[in-house]
Amino acid sequence: MVLSLGSCGSQARVLGLGSWESSNFELRTFTFRLRTSAFRFEQQTLRSQVSSLKTQDPRLISYVSGLASSSSLICMPPALSPKIDPVLLKDRFDRQITDLRVSVTDRCNFKCSYCRTPHGVHFAKRESLLTYEEIERLAGIFLDLGVTKIRLTGGEPLLRRNLERLVGKLSALKGLEDLALTTNGFNFYDRANRFKNAGLTRVTISLDSLRQDRFREITGYADYDDVLRSIETAKELKLDPVKVNCVLIRGVNDDEITDFARFASDWDLEVRFIEFMPIDEEEKWTRERVVTGSEILQTLKPEFDLTPVAREDASETAQKFEISGGAGRIGLILPVSEPFCGNCSRVRLTADGKIRTCLFSLVEYDVRDRMRAGATDEELKKFLISTVLKKEEGHRIGESDFVPPSRSMSYIGG
Ligand code: SF4
Repeated sequence: MVLSLGSCGSQARVLGLGSWESSNFELRTFTFRLRTSAFRFEQQTLRSQVSSLKTQDPRLISYVSGLASSSSLICMPPALSPKIDPVLLKDRFDRQITDLRVSVTDRCNFKCSYCRTPHGVHFAKRESLLTYEEIERLAGIFLDLGVTKIRLTGGEPLLRRNLERLVGKLSALKGLEDLALTTNGFNFYDRANRFKNAGLTRVTISLDSLRQDRFREITGYADYDDVLRSIETAKELKLDPVKVNCVLIRGVNDDEITDFARFASDWDLEVRFIEFMPIDEEEKWTRERVVTGSEILQTLKPEFDLTPVAREDASETAQKFEISGGAGRIGLILPVSEPFCGNCSRVRLTADGKIRTCLFSLVEYDVRDRMRAGATDEELKKFLISTVLKKEEGHRIGESDFVPPSRSMSYIGG
């Protein structure tokens, strides 16, 4: 079977369906929106013919099986060469997944309201958490499917016992280019050496205030100096670039923008201002509390000369600026005012083994139970491919039908 199609792209048209005997083909997939009901008939035809397709290529099978829940259709050129591309995780919008965020625990010892688990919600039981061996196995499968970066998150990942062991396992996996960690920094300084030796390449430390009293108020944690010490240690160990994440909330810490820029310059690191998102436990998010990128730049203008830095790759979340005449960088992560979903390359694996295809997903896909029921790597691969095909186009914040996810950020993994 072959689909004979016209020019591919967002406006592609189906020209016809024919027969094709060879399973040797160079598969190129393009998705496009179904625009008329006439296409639905062809979609149906395609689905019914797929069973006779002489190929085991999971990409094609998954694309086609994904059609049932999809508003997109495959556009595939005829056979051109016997070369088979590596199987990659791609969604319906032609976004390739290269970035896996792995939450290793839903617990955190800080109490930041925009992130914490609501009162009354129970933490996952120990036996429900993925073991390090299970995470290692899944990570290996993701890497086979084209993922190159893994970030360990939580909750607070350092609360998971002997996390260094997991870092060692993951860093040994073939194909991994970048292994990063996001932490609140409460005791990273004490273990940083072990992480580095185990193969950690980068660290991002959260810090929402440079004022000790305010830091305590936001986090409920008294030892602000621990976090600074962790940042200092990460710098010393060259876990570069060391990044500091600051969630700005109007009326809470938006008076510290210039202090943070000075901090970035003095410490020669990257401070990333992140817009407040509607995923907070107390549901206090309003658009008015979001401090936008243009406001941040306006605030910094009188004191800092900022030079934009070109993105290294399109899926990067931050717009970056060098601080001219000094060291350090500023990053702006603006999911609300300037969404970057069109270039999203991320999926998340929760601590209890669910795949989340978007930070704002309302559904999760259980991979843990499949694995524990004895699924083979090939079966898991097919499951991941078909799951990624269900990835949301974007977060829909600000749309009338927006529904915040039921799990808090600490549960999902930031
Ligand atoms: S909101 Fe979802 S689609 Fe958008 S960038 Fe975040 S994870 Fe990706």
